[in-house]
Amino acid sequence: MNIHEYQAKALLKGYGAPVAQGVAILKVEEAEAAAKSLPGPLYVVKSQIHAGGRGKGKFKELGPDAKGGVRLAKSIEEVVSHAKEMLGNTLVTAQTGEAGKQVNRLYIEDGADIARELYCSLLVDRSVGRVAFVVSTEGGMDIEAVAHDTPEKIHTIAIDPEAGVTAADVAAISKALQLDGAAAEDAKSLFPALYKAFGEKDMALLEVNPLIVMKDGHLRVLDAKMSFDGNAIFRHDDVKSLRDETEEDAKEIEASKWDLAYVALDGNIGCMVNGAGLAMATMDIIKLYGKEPANFCDVGGGAGKDKVAAAFKIITADPKVEGILVNIFGGIMKCDVIAEGVVAAVQEVGLKVPLVVRLEGTNVELGKKILNESGLAITAADDLDDAAKKIVAAINA
Ligand code: GDP
Ligand code: MG
Repeated sequence: MNIHEYQAKALLKGYGAPVAQGVAILKVEEAEAAAKSLPGPLYVVKSQIHAGGRGKGKFKELGPDAKGGVRLAKSIEEVVSHAKEMLGNTLVTAQTGEAGKQVNRLYIEDGADIARELYCSLLVDRSVGRVAFVVSTEGGMDIEAVAHDTPEKIHTIAIDPEAGVTAADVAAISKALQLDGAAAEDAKSLFPALYKAFGEKDMALLEVNPLIVMKDGHLRVLDAKMSFDGNAIFRHDDVKSLRDETEEDAKEIEASKWDLAYVALDGNIGCMVNGAGLAMATMDIIKLYGKEPANFCDVGGGAGKDKVAAAFKIITADPKVEGILVNIFGGIMKCDVIAEGVVAAVQEVGLKVPLVVRLEGTNVELGKKILNESGLAITAADDLDDAAKKIVAAINA
């Protein structure tokens, strides 16, 4: 689960991290009061969407010459005019895809005088089984490009979970970031604070890009991206309350209500399977026959008829889906339950695209019988290969 920059900054502020004063707004009418509450004379107006690259992003409605999704303003009037241009419009960045994201919130922040832009993130480094800091002096820009072109400029410092962030760790991070003076002093509290926040809140990623050294020599968290481990959200009501469902895929939200493992993808074959391994194999074989999956939908082991029907409805609700492949190996899950769920869902929402079903395992005969007697236009398949061929052929027909 992701949260907005302004929420991440508020959370980090609670851990003592240096962040600027700022106010989040939903309406243009709130912009003036927000700006007036800040010291000035420099302000920043920042689009709050769950995607990075906002600074270099472009608003669809404003044309290529208009400013991006993060704008500096030198007066309160300028803050208001930026807010008017930005709110409600669609920002397209390197991370949003072509469709872009509608900007429904702005963060009006006290502007900083920047001397250097650095990169700092924390993540779970599985290769060493530790939380690690990944830092670079090349901040503010696309870190993937830095990693690709100049990998020597990226430093990883893994933290011993028992010791936490030691003075030696802080020194290593500070050296990698070439910090001195006031910034090196600030580092002594900032890096342990980031590590503490990461652990206590069960984050999966904390990215500060850029972390800046200001002209006065001090550090400041200028941007913050935070992702939380979905499996641990139940422990954090405070984090759960920050969820902004308007930023998420509606189908993924519905799926999470049913406890379905559903991920929206870019292709046009909807897949309903049981078990992650079978899902992967199904996606692979669809690709092998030249098509792309529209989703990854795993109904799991013990799904009942209602859950299967819910999964089927989520898949059919996706306008990109031109065909559906149901691939079930009934072990704990019984084939007749799947068949009943599919039939119930089709009776409710109709079936506008070809449907190929491959069933195998427990109660397979009963499952096939239910499908055959349903009177629905379902193509039966004998095995995985046959199923993939048939759905691809049906779409190409
Ligand atoms: P992103 O483009 O979505 O990553 O948004 P950021 O919050 O990282 O902002 C993009 C860029 O805007 C930063 O790298 C800075 O160069 C610039 N910027 C953001 N806030 C300030 C500020 O307070 N002062 C100045 N001078 N520049 C800023
Ligand atoms: Mg950034």
